[in-house]
Amino acid sequence: MAKKKRIVIALGGNALGNTLPEQMEAVKTTSRAIVDLIEEGCEVVVAHGNGPQVGMVNNAMIALTHEDPQQPNTPLSVCVAMSQAYIGYDLQNALREELLNRNITDIPVATMITQVRVDEDDPAFSCPSKPIGRFLTKEQADEMAKKYDYIMKEDAGRGYRRVVASPKPQEIVEIGTIRTMVDSGDLVIACGGGGIPVTRQGNHLKGASAVIDKDFASCLLAKELDADFLIILTAVEKAAINYGKPNQKWLDDITVSEAKQYIDEGHFAPGSMLPKIQAAVEFAESKPGRKALITLLEKAKEGIQGTTGTRIQLD
Ligand code: ADP
Ligand code: MG
Repeated sequence: MAKKKRIVIALGGNALGNTLPEQMEAVKTTSRAIVDLIEEGCEVVVAHGNGPQVGMVNNAMIALTHEDPQQPNTPLSVCVAMSQAYIGYDLQNALREELLNRNITDIPVATMITQVRVDEDDPAFSCPSKPIGRFLTKEQADEMAKKYDYIMKEDAGRGYRRVVASPKPQEIVEIGTIRTMVDSGDLVIACGGGGIPVTRQGNHLKGASAVIDKDFASCLLAKELDADFLIILTAVEKAAINYGKPNQKWLDDITVSEAKQYIDEGHFAPGSMLPKIQAAVEFAESKPGRKALITLLEKAKEGIQGTTGTRIQLD
């Protein structure tokens, strides 16, 4: 029997929704797309983002501190852990149900609480850039900054938000266990929200105040699991050059060197498409034969067949 194609899927915000009820609905559609790939004979590993969810958990924990002064402020690493467990819970149940509905009874589904080591000297710690949580007035923002030592920034004329560091993932702490589960045929959800950021202090792993980009964490996961494909599912069918301009051009099959040239020319927005293209390039150039695909959730199947999406591979 031919070896199954191993695929790491990175789910973006639109695969999970923004609120509790939205997430419950969204994971059903997401699970259908994932189980389609399993039915095609692929071995799938799932990673996902947590932008809205980690902001929501963070706000809930702040409200708790306001209500009960005995409760100290919750570290961001703990908020990421909470978001990981809560998204994993909805996603693993939806996947389980979809598998059973299709009479696939031999694939157990499990979420791995995953810690990802970051470098304590990562320059991202000195320039927090990732906005999380809700929008606040200038006065509210000043109060938060004073009370919790948060860094607050004005976000595109819409108000103030907390910004956090987004360091690069260096190592997946639980990779051995994840590999064992995947090798034995389990459907694993790992590196949720980019993983819980930690730094190593001897034998101690210390939670870091950061949110890791899920595109980079998924790339590391795909490399570590020796995957054939990294699929980044997002809100657009393809990446484009001259995006949003009259001369916009959607990208189909591109080489790593073409992708690097487009990055240098500034075609991809930082914080949205840029980390996806960077992660795709890093994966595709890590070993011959590895391919990356960026497309819509609903187009994943067609994407791996090569009929849509943006595919990136070595020259
Ligand atoms: P996700 O939650 O999946 O990570 P993001 O919003 O972070 O989604 O990134 C996807 C978005 O990137 C698209 O919806 C699109 O608006 C934006 N984008 C920025 N630059 C480009 C580009 N060059 N080509 C396509 N989409 C782009
Ligand atoms: Mg994103």
